[in-house]
Amino acid sequence: MKEKILKTLNEQMNAEYYSAYLYLSMSAYADRTGFKGAAHWLLRQAHEEREHAGKVFKFILERGETPVFKDIEATPPEYGSLEDVFKKVASHEHHVTDLINAAASAALDQRDHAAYSFFQWFVDEQMEEVSIANDILGKFTAAGNNPGILLSLDAVLGQR
Ligand code: MG
Repeated sequence: MKEKILKTLNEQMNAEYYSAYLYLSMSAYADRTGFKGAAHWLLRQAHEEREHAGKVFKFILERGETPVFKDIEATPPEYGSLEDVFKKVASHEHHVTDLINAAASAALDQRDHAAYSFFQWFVDEQMEEVSIANDILGKFTAAGNNPGILLSLDAVLGQR
């Protein structure tokens, strides 16, 4: 495999682990502030990110290469509200979309069609992640500080 593609894959694997780390920290915030539904949603999200990392891990091994584990960046120390949390979820998913698009472009540049095809799954996944994050953010923004609406939003998230 071309050096550049292997580097991109390893960066993506590490980025997925950071996403899991980030969502775990958000889940803890939601749990501590009494939003058990949002805590559950964010915990599921963290599990999903670990699965994404696992997909990259497996692909690297299948190509006969070595996955490289780097330091995982620290998560934000605190969050201001659930709206703040989902603002950060949405902006993080936009960032991950940028990473995936760059990875797919690099694979095409290097004529690594297996890697290009592999990244397409993530292209579709990111469309969904960004759309869901924006949707939830919109609801929290509309809810403002209304406790009744916040609690019913929390109950919906808890059904995930
Ligand atoms: Mg992901």
